[in-house]
Amino acid sequence: MHALVTGGAGFLGLHLANRLHALGWSVRALDDLSNGQPEFLDRDIPLQEGDVNDLPLLWRLLKNVEVVFHLAALANVPESVHYPRAYNTVNTGGTVALLEACRDVGVRRVILASSATVYGAQSRQPVSEDAPLKPGVPYAVSKVAAENYLFSIARLNGFEAVALRIFNTYGPWQPVPHAHAPVIPRFMHDTLNRRSVVIFGDGHQTRDFIYIDDVVHALVLAAEKPGIHGHVLNIGSGCETTINELVDLIGQTVGRKPHVLHNQGTAAGVSRLVADMSKARRVLDFKPRVLLRDGLQRFHELEPAFQG
Ligand code: NAD
Repeated sequence: MHALVTGGAGFLGLHLANRLHALGWSVRALDDLSNGQPEFLDRDIPLQEGDVNDLPLLWRLLKNVEVVFHLAALANVPESVHYPRAYNTVNTGGTVALLEACRDVGVRRVILASSATVYGAQSRQPVSEDAPLKPGVPYAVSKVAAENYLFSIARLNGFEAVALRIFNTYGPWQPVPHAHAPVIPRFMHDTLNRRSVVIFGDGHQTRDFIYIDDVVHALVLAAEKPGIHGHVLNIGSGCETTINELVDLIGQTVGRKPHVLHNQGTAAGVSRLVADMSKARRVLDFKPRVLLRDGLQRFHELEPAFQG
């Protein structure tokens, strides 16, 4: 099978590309390297540096490609509040450009990495795919638009489309930017470096954390499974964890009690978010395999930044 992974130097993209390569797929990666860590990409995987809005480049890269995994995006929620235009250009515009190129060249299936943020604040938990979408931030809006373009352009042009609404993913090689880093690598780094762990709000807010290998497994299934065109699927663990519980688990994992500070002045985000995984189980045969406790252990053991 021939695949293109956009965002192939990013956290999810490079894990996915390496896995596909190990499975015997022929993989190409596209990434503009605005983020990402290309040094962790398997050396046999050709990486094209370039923009997902560059149509001539896409036409060239898509030659003979059957499956496209579209992961290239700006993916920092608070940043999107400050730069909505950039999020629109890359996440929505970039998706439309890619879909146009897929139409022109003729691919079999496009899999979009969408996001659980499209749900916003939901009173009913666990949240299922048919919940009314309430995207509260520009990043989430850009993902809702990308989903809609995906299904529209695919239907009108006769190729298959699947959108995965991915929940909070964690694992080795996850970047930790200075501002607005994802909570698991942030808290792990801070605990290991004896810095205070800063929790926004009271820490009773919940999230659904899924280990990177499970997300990669779901992406591969989404490429291989026949007859799933048009589906939107939650990809989470299905387990609800408070931020306070997460911090305790991180302390147990690294063998050091975190020093916790609560920042009541910063919005803590939605109060609850956990995936209803029944549809992904039914449609994709997907069942997350890594419990949070085990995933944190693996992350701690495998992340190069934690060694030595
Ligand atoms: P990431 O930032 O590590 O990877 C995204 C990659 O896209 C980066 O390497 C970046 O350089 C690249 N990119 C950005 N703009 C580009 C452009 N214009 N052209 C080409 N490449 C470009 O983020 P990630 O965590 O690996 O996320 C991958 C995808 O999964 C994103 O679409 C994100 O929205 C989605 N997602 C991630 C999570 C998560 O928890 N990590 C959850 C839900 C959805």
